[in-house]
Amino acid sequence: MAQVQSEEQAVIDGLLSFVGQEVAPREAALGELMEDPRQLFKEDGREHPEVAEARRETRIASAGAGYYQMFCPESIGGSGLPLRLSVLCWEALHHQYGPGERLMYGTISHWASGPSVLWEDVSPYLAAEVRPNVVKGRMAGCFGMSEPDAGSDAWGMKTRATRDGDTWSITGSKQWTSFAPTADYVLAFAVTDPDMVERRRGGITCFYVPMSTPGVRVESVIRLYGEIGGREAILSFDDVRVPDEQRFGPEDQGFTLAMMGASQGRLYNAGRSIGLARWALERAVEYAQVRETGGQPIARHQAIQHMLADSATAIFAAKAMTLETAEKVDAGADARRELAMAKLFATNSAVDVFDRAMQVHGGMGLTNETRLHEGWKTLRTLRIADGTDEILRNTVARELLKGNTSF
Ligand SMILES: Cc1cc2nc3c(=O)[nH]c(=O)nc-3n(C[C@H](O)[C@H](O)[C@H](O)COP(=O)(O)OP(=O)(O)OC[C@H]3O[C@@H](n4cnc5c(N)ncnc54)[C@H](O)[C@@H]3O)c2cc1C
Repeated sequence: MAQVQSEEQAVIDGLLSFVGQEVAPREAALGELMEDPRQLFKEDGREHPEVAEARRETRIASAGAGYYQMFCPESIGGSGLPLRLSVLCWEALHHQYGPGERLMYGTISHWASGPSVLWEDVSPYLAAEVRPNVVKGRMAGCFGMSEPDAGSDAWGMKTRATRDGDTWSITGSKQWTSFAPTADYVLAFAVTDPDMVERRRGGITCFYVPMSTPGVRVESVIRLYGEIGGREAILSFDDVRVPDEQRFGPEDQGFTLAMMGASQGRLYNAGRSIGLARWALERAVEYAQVRETGGQPIARHQAIQHMLADSATAIFAAKAMTLETAEKVDAGADARRELAMAKLFATNSAVDVFDRAMQVHGGMGLTNETRLHEGWKTLRTLRIADGTDEILRNTVARELLKGNTSF
């Protein structure tokens, strides 16, 4: 159902009002620090600590207001609200505030860095000592799955964890770990049973590892798109010792855990793509009506109108399919085909919407002023991160060939 229900609208309105009153002024106070890369990034490419601190304050304020954890299970202290509503909330935030690494995007927990369903089945130690801090936003983590030789093919992972009594020793490296330079902990995935991994039947275990643990190092920050700094990093683990009570979820079942998170990630990425695409389309519609060539607004040109119409059509389709997918997940149905299609379609069509919006703006579309390039970069990244287009197509095709051909 594409229509937003009144109780859903009430949550969205509450969130936007909280963000407007509590987060927007906090972001404004950071001023150039958020806007100017020369101030935002330090020499080594890391973000300025003030920004990380502002993110922490935002999380804590949002958790206090009940928004940060609203889509987490009630069993861990969340509100258990449906994923369909999470799509609408991500869309609303991105539609309202547009491109960029904005503070407001930290008001809702992301499954990989904050509390989520992944935190349900953890050890008594993690449940008592760590989880409350994560749910309240006092701590945030990063997700260490990918490695130099293990991206799309996570089974190629080389990081190993070996058991010595009640302690594990982790050695290896991770790549692309988002927010690692500012994280409090990493959820580190490691091979614990090479035979199971060989047969692709498990054998990977996840561990909760505080970034301050001896042997954990942020080796370097990865810079993207010509930026002078970044949020992704390369991590190394050199005989990192963690007690078994820091094992995150069942032994050898880390891959299943990661896939659980990836499903939520597909909806998150689809939701924010729809919101950003709506923001860009509105900028294009406005500009087309004020920019004149040959004595008339460019909106009178059919070529421009068709670009706007194509973008609107794509957004409408992406939103309808994403909401239907979320409803399926909320109902407990197997939606892996739909999740793959929704992320694939929503991200790709949003990249196209930004490309058309830039074209409608002419040269202005390429300037920093319109911020269109920022949205394009974010969305272009999503064609690779959290499951590449090709891997998503593989998932869809695999389901079709199994006979899952009904719609
Ligand atoms: C900005 C960013 C943030 C990220 N954040 C995180 C993070 O926080 N934590 C984390 O663990 N990872 C993270 N990743 C890693 C991300 O999940 C991987 O980049 C992604 O899985 C692809 O892996 P790869 O880059 O090694 O590409 P590769 O796996 O080397 O793929 C290269 C190309 O080959 C294609 N390909 C590979 N295998 C197949 C196949 N079987 N069939 C068809 N085509 C195939 C791919 O689609 C791609 O086009 C992030 C990546 C980026 C870019």
